[in-house]
Amino acid sequence: MSSEEKSKILETKRNNYRHGDKTYHAARTKRYRVKLKMDVIKAYGGCCSCCEEDHPDFLTVDHVKNDGNVHRRTLKGTQNLYRMLRDAGYPKDDYTVLCFNCNIARSLFGTCPHQRT
Ligand SMILES: [Zn+2]
Ligand SMILES: [Zn+2]
Repeated sequence: MSSEEKSKILETKRNNYRHGDKTYHAARTKRYRVKLKMDVIKAYGGCCSCCEEDHPDFLTVDHVKNDGNVHRRTLKGTQNLYRMLRDAGYPKDDYTVLCFNCNIARSLFGTCPHQRT
């Protein structure tokens, strides 16, 4: 393959990459989402407020007054919740970071087993 051919292929690849390559856009959206989530979680202390789990993949932001589901539904998804919180300057009164274990336990039983000793 001549070097001219090679550079032509490279150019085509680059164009695909720039124009509507779905995996590229998906990756970018994912990066944005992860960053948004990380920012929010960091702003709320960076770990589960119940068991101090601090792996970001386990963490989610929860509505303190336990009506998180209702709230989330009206906001059409967690992404919007994160964005709303960021835009509102991370209001601390109503929201807290919980891991999924503590979050589910609370929404199912009202309290987390961690607090029932
Ligand atoms: Zn927890
Ligand atoms: Zn817990």
